Amino acid sequence: MEFWFKEAQTKDLALEVRVTDILHLQQTPYQKLAVIETVEYGRMLILDGAIQCTERDEFLYHEMITHVPLFVHPNPQRVCVIGGGDGGTVREILKHPSVEEIKHVEIDGAVVEASKKFLPTLSCGLDDPRVEILITDGIKYLENTKGYFDVIIIDSTDPVGPAVGLFSAEFYGYAFKALREDGVICAQTESPFANTKLLLKSWNNMRVHFPHVGVTIGYMPTYPTGFWSYTIGSKKVELKANRQVNLSGKYFTKSVMDKAFDLPPFIKDLLNNGQ
Ligand code: SAM
Repeated sequence: MEFWFKEAQTKDLALEVRVTDILHLQQTPYQKLAVIETVEYGRMLILDGAIQCTERDEFLYHEMITHVPLFVHPNPQRVCVIGGGDGGTVREILKHPSVEEIKHVEIDGAVVEASKKFLPTLSCGLDDPRVEILITDGIKYLENTKGYFDVIIIDSTDPVGPAVGLFSAEFYGYAFKALREDGVICAQTESPFANTKLLLKSWNNMRVHFPHVGVTIGYMPTYPTGFWSYTIGSKKVELKANRQVNLSGKYFTKSVMDKAFDLPPFIKDLLNNGQ
């Protein structure tokens, strides 16, 4: 007998994968959490029916959401991650020798625990002495932080439940104040095809506060449409590499960084004309 997991990515589009084992199922105070074993993508973390990461393709997302903003910053030392309970974002940030501390603010401790147990290739950096995990709401945390961070990364779930506010102008205002004077912010902003309005809204909301705002794009096979966006804001420095790009990943390279903000015309049109 075969078992399949199907994610309805939009009301008219689905991704289906064959499952060989259900490793964990839990209702947390915030969401329904599952870790499953699949043939095509290895282990998968699922929250409220939405794929968060898979062992096989997670590097595409985690390398883009971290290395692009970290190379825009001239000397990142203090980094904040909001969300990202699987640990993939923290793992990539730790590859930057200038980083002295990471405050990892995740609302749901159960995601961190499940990732430590079932997703060791993602969560392997969470016990590093430079990392402090804070189980609390990232919105309240940044509202109460002033002038501390060099880079803030918003590695959130889709805009539902406690993540809705993470895409708002008010929240980007808190992030602006929580950054030092040459601070940089990066937020995952969904699929330009499946969630065009959300990308446009986040881009406009970030521009309310940040003088420099750009979008970078990448592949992400298990997210809706396989094509993903990251919106990056800077308080002072230009959106380009502001130090030597001396790190290569499985996807991220110096040439990816050089072209990171060079967008295809249809995305430029969307951002400039709202269509
Ligand atoms: N890469 C994934 C994606 O784009 O779908 C996101 C991965 S990560 C598991 C997302 C995390 O954001 C979840 O663990 C969720 O609990 C957390 N989260 C949602 N809202 C939050 C908030 N307000 N503060 C802190 N963490 C939050």
